[in-house]
Amino acid sequence: MKLVPRYTGIAENFAIEDFPASVASPQLLLWNEGLAKQFSINVAADLRASTFSGNEQQATPAVALGYSGHQFGHFSPRLGDGRAHLLGAISDDENQLWDIQLKGSGATPYSRGGDGRCALGPAIREYVMSEAMHALGVKTTRCLAVVGSGETVYRNPPQAGAIVTRLATSHIRVGSFQYLATQGDIEGLKNLTNLAIERHYPEITDTGPQRYLAFLGAVIKSQVELVVSWMRVGFIHGVMNTDNTLVSGETIDYGPCAMMNSFDFDTVFSSIDKQGRYAFGNQPNIANWNCARLAESLIPLISDDDEQAVSLMTPYINSFAEQFNAEFTAMWGKKLGLSAKNASESELIAELLTLLKDNQLDYTNTFDALTESLKGEAVVPESLIEWRAKWINLTDNNSYEVMRAANPRVIPRNHMIEKIISEYNTAGSSELLKRFMKIVGNPYSDDEKLSEFQAAPIDDNDYQTFCGT
Ligand code: AMP
Ligand code: MG
Repeated sequence: MKLVPRYTGIAENFAIEDFPASVASPQLLLWNEGLAKQFSINVAADLRASTFSGNEQQATPAVALGYSGHQFGHFSPRLGDGRAHLLGAISDDENQLWDIQLKGSGATPYSRGGDGRCALGPAIREYVMSEAMHALGVKTTRCLAVVGSGETVYRNPPQAGAIVTRLATSHIRVGSFQYLATQGDIEGLKNLTNLAIERHYPEITDTGPQRYLAFLGAVIKSQVELVVSWMRVGFIHGVMNTDNTLVSGETIDYGPCAMMNSFDFDTVFSSIDKQGRYAFGNQPNIANWNCARLAESLIPLISDDDEQAVSLMTPYINSFAEQFNAEFTAMWGKKLGLSAKNASESELIAELLTLLKDNQLDYTNTFDALTESLKGEAVVPESLIEWRAKWINLTDNNSYEVMRAANPRVIPRNHMIEKIISEYNTAGSSELLKRFMKIVGNPYSDDEKLSEFQAAPIDDNDYQTFCGT
């Protein structure tokens, strides 16, 4: 594996060299062959377990990155990779560099007393969810492998341990900027911002303060697009802390995430999100808030005069809502095969969302049924019959195709993920996972085998997710 060193020379204490701790008995459990091909990863089959557990030492030293984070609104100045090692970057078949990182690979200088390990369940969740999200058309980190460690991790109850191999176009988080800004490291901040621009927004060619303002604008745009794509498929991230927000606009951290079943903007599954801070419908507000935290960190790059910097950045932050509303309206338009440009269409959308909520209709299956009903091949819920008669008049010849591309037929539902994890924990493998990966890898198809995976749970009112530890 040809690795390019990453994040060296940003700031003195940004990327700390550190080696993965070897594990007792690594065993390759999941291997993403398609992704391996895309990156020409030609590690021989018998070396994969030792390579992607961290047992095999690489020629370039691994690093653990420092970052801060607002967690549920409270600031922690020093989080960092407490259980992850970044091996370096690899190149895909389009010459784009991707970070390759092991998660659960042992303690680092950022572990703060944690064991640096990851349990098997959350590792499988990350693999299935990130690959399913990618297939749904949502920007996300990817997952190459899950290796069982052959060791027990001491959670309550004790569980099998695993190491996840994650690929991301970068691991530059809003919290990375906060980390350097908090230390007053303006040079480091500048280096990091320039690296982020080079990697993610090379079209920005401005110099001086305008360069950093343009960067802020580009990140805001990417966050708007990301949250809209989450909401299109019913994804609830669950832990949108600033350390879990990548400036590339990729989804990262599949700890307490969940998919919405029956439609309700207030849906929350995370056991620790008591206030609903990260509820389905609150995600745009939080993304906006996280962008404001990025802006704060960039102040020293904009002007020596804080007030002037803030006044230059405020219009960018304020534009979030307007950009979001435009993209959000366009999204509903696509989900309903409408242009969503006139008032009667907007009213129709609002009316549908109220009906969905009041009748506790399944989000995915209802939009799928509406789509297929254009071909006369699906039964639409009774409570939508009247509404449908008004809507159908506004559709046209293109509507089916537009809707089919916007409305998945199958999503990685919570109960299915739990079933897969529990089968894995008891049987040491999972036939269900194999079948499921095929289906969620093609979520807009009309493959008949989908039906097994389309059913909503009978009752998910008590479903809870936990931070992946
Ligand atoms: P996460 O919930 O994975 O986003 O993690 C939040 C922070 O806690 C990050 O700084 C992680 O590196 C750290 N962390 C989570 N789990 C562990 C662990 N088992 N050992 C050490 N650090 C951890
Ligand atoms: Mg995280």
